[in-house]
Amino acid sequence: MPLVQITQPYYQVIDTFDFAEARQNILTSSKALFALKAFNENDVICHFTIAEIFKSPTYLTIQKGVDEHIMIAPTNLQLTNHSCNPNVLFDTDKLQFICIRKINVGDELCFFYPATEWDISQPFECLCNADNCLKTIQGAKYLSKEILSKYRLTSFIQSMIQQYH
Ligand SMILES: [Zn+2]
Repeated sequence: MPLVQITQPYYQVIDTFDFAEARQNILTSSKALFALKAFNENDVICHFTIAEIFKSPTYLTIQKGVDEHIMIAPTNLQLTNHSCNPNVLFDTDKLQFICIRKINVGDELCFFYPATEWDISQPFECLCNADNCLKTIQGAKYLSKEILSKYRLTSFIQSMIQQYH
């Protein structure tokens, strides 16, 4: 899901956990995670585990290797939306959910899909409204080296860039 504004009074809190709450927009049903704690760059927000591995991507998986798409647990982390100005990264080597830009309480947690995805299953138009918004998000395969150099990427995506870009 692209980043969406889920702010009062149009949302309900559907789940609360350690460092974030999951909100659902009452009008659109879209879901998102919002920080309940502040984090600094490089903080490990939490660890995650691999619940299942698939050969092909789905809209819920995160890519770990060429034919390795993982479903992660806790499943709440799957509610992390895309933004072209992300503040978290799924480190698929260390299985850590990492802060990559200062997060304040109340900020939406969002990651850059192409930071883990080479060629995503469902390309979408991004509505994140960031100055640097890339509009159509299809995966790292479709972005220039120059654009990708501005983002923190998994080691898998970095190795794909070295091989194919
Ligand atoms: Zn965007």
